[in-house]
Amino acid sequence: MPARILNGNRIRDQILLEVENEVETLAARGIRPGLAAVRVGDDPASEIYVRNKIKACEKVGIHSEHITPPAAVTTGELLELVDDLNHRDEIDGILVQLPLPDQVDAAKVLLAVSPQKDVDGFHPFNVGALVTKRPSPIPCTPAGLIQILKRSGISIAGKRAVIVGRSDIVGKPAAFLLLHENATVTICHSKTENLPAVAREADILVAAIGRPAFVTGDFIKPGATVLDVGINSLTDAEQVESICSGLPKKLERFRAKGSVLVGDVHPKDVAETAGAYTPVPGGVGPLTIAMLMVNTLQAARQRRAT
Ligand code: NDP
Repeated sequence: MPARILNGNRIRDQILLEVENEVETLAARGIRPGLAAVRVGDDPASEIYVRNKIKACEKVGIHSEHITPPAAVTTGELLELVDDLNHRDEIDGILVQLPLPDQVDAAKVLLAVSPQKDVDGFHPFNVGALVTKRPSPIPCTPAGLIQILKRSGISIAGKRAVIVGRSDIVGKPAAFLLLHENATVTICHSKTENLPAVAREADILVAAIGRPAFVTGDFIKPGATVLDVGINSLTDAEQVESICSGLPKKLERFRAKGSVLVGDVHPKDVAETAGAYTPVPGGVGPLTIAMLMVNTLQAARQRRAT
């Protein structure tokens, strides 16, 4: 039986519609959730991410502000900016787009964001709340993984979940969320021995590594659910040929654009071995922004509408 493709765009649209309806309900009480996005410098990838976040706000009726301090901004200036946003009543969520330039103490800036307005869920206060299963903003990409599973009717409780990657923004929070859903969780990383064999034990395999097509068929238990967080843009013709051979749409796209996106999971192997999987693009990625909207709405409700 061919593997089921878990369509992230469809799930994102469902969630955005739900947020839009709730934003309307709040509007009837005179409350409009607000998000401030701080983007320093002119990193093109950051610019696209923030632009898409602002577009999503517009779609669901959330007020948004795009603040762009110059590339030479100091830590002190950013701290002042964050302090001002912390005190503005119409701002419910503050996101500081990473990476920040080298001269800025990024950890200090992120720590300055009020935990109540930390819609990325990166503040240590909220990390502690997540670990101890208290209500808190949950990092958006891992929160999206859970939504994909739940809204696709894939059961989590009692299942073996293996996460490859232990970053603070994806791997670790994903592990706690799956644990809270009663999966039996294993976290792998670059020092894990016999990685393919460990991954092959997974009923639910999450790849958050940052290496194109790293997870090949020998990592995947036949019938497993595979969630691919990786976003890698390939520009090298030889690499594209080797990873995407037999995938005419990807090859066509590369010929037309000079680059093509692949995840951390081998696109052909996963289609042949998994029971269900998220494609790249159009799988996990779209959920990240949807969950940011959910977190902003939730922050507004908790701070202003309780
Ligand atoms: P990080 O670079 O912070 O973490 C990567 C993790 O992968 C590390 O824990 C690292 O292990 C592990 N790793 C690296 N090489 C290997 C290896 N050979 N074997 C096993 N583990 C390995 O990445 P992120 O978590 O921030 O992102 C991961 C991917 O997800 C990237 O492609 C990124 O672009 C994408 N991403 C996508 C998002 C979305 O919206 N879809 C959002 C965020 C990220 P160690 O700790 O030992 O170094």
